[in-house]
Parts: sequence; structure tokens; C-alpha cells
Amino acid sequence: MATSRMMCPICAEDFDDVRHVLKHFRYRRFPCGHQGCTLEFYTKVERTTHCTQTNHRKTFRIIRVPYLDKLVKLMIKDARRLFKRRAAPPAAVRP
Ligand SMILES: [Zn+2]
Ligand SMILES: [Zn+2]
Repeated sequence: MATSRMMCPICAEDFDDVRHVLKHFRYRRFPCGHQGCTLEFYTKVERTTHCTQTNHRKTFRIIRVPYLDKLVKLMIKDARRLFKRRAAPPAAVRP
């Protein structure tokens, strides 16, 4: 899968991983699920790594916040546009 560069509408940083946006919202969708473990992760991969390392039982639970899902989608769209606009050669710089 090709990664596309984006520019964050919140902090103006370049990124190519959706995780960047999730971090701004502290939107951790993947809880560990092991009894007594309260850790939550941004991506499935992170959770899997954690569970493998700690021998914690893996669940398939995903926390969904529809409002945040919408917001993240919107941000990604904006971020793509922002990056493209900046990368494009300036039309008329001189007066
Ligand atoms: Zn950012
Ligand atoms: Zn755990």
C-alpha cells in the first residue's frame, strides 16, 4: 500500500501514518483485554506486540467512538489537501 504524505492541520507537521491524528485525540481503539491490564493502543499491531511480549491474552475488542471516527476521517482529508497545496509550485510569487 502506498503511503501518502500529509500535513497535520493541528500541528502542521508532516506525517504519513494515521496514528499521528489518533494521537492528537488520544483515540486508542485497541484495549489489551487481559484481566487487570488497562493498556490501550492506537493500532492492532501495537496491541499484538504488547500481548506477545507480556503474554497477555489477546481480545478482539475495538473501542469505537463514532464522533471521533468522523473527525479523524475529516482530518485526514484536510491533511492530504494541505500537503498537496504546499507541495504545489507557487503560482505567482512575484507581483
Ligand atoms: Zn499533528
Ligand atoms: Zn496487557
